[in-house]
Amino acid sequence: MTLTYDPQNIFARILRGEIPNKTVKETAHTLAFHDIRPLAPVHILVIPKGAYVTFGDFAAKASAEEIADFHRTCAAIIAEAGLDAGYRVISNAHDHGGQEVPHYHLHILGGAALGPMLA
Ligand code: C5P
Repeated sequence: MTLTYDPQNIFARILRGEIPNKTVKETAHTLAFHDIRPLAPVHILVIPKGAYVTFGDFAAKASAEEIADFHRTCAAIIAEAGLDAGYRVISNAHDHGGQEVPHYHLHILGGAALGPMLA
């Protein structure tokens, strides 16, 4: 499985400001924005600013600072979105995972009962 990063993918274009997004939070290493096709009342995507394709790619190659910034940003978003009743985080990878955009991203879903994950 190749992890070659395509700099023309849509999230790379969002990071370069070529495509608009509804930003939720931005830090030195991380951007979070509302998914354009929300699957729950709260559906936020969190992406690193670095060029990583999947969760595994990010976890293996990103610096400790990038990894900490990414996860602390997720935690802040979860707290600020008022997801006390619960939430789900998902990351799709490659074909079998159903990944559509080849820039690592975490989906944060909540705001309603989500049902079984693999229904
Ligand atoms: O995890 P996966 O790659 O399948 O999902 C990509 C997500 O990016 C989709 O939920 C899609 O709605 C979202 N998207 C977006 N803004 C874009 C293009 C895709 O929020 N401009």
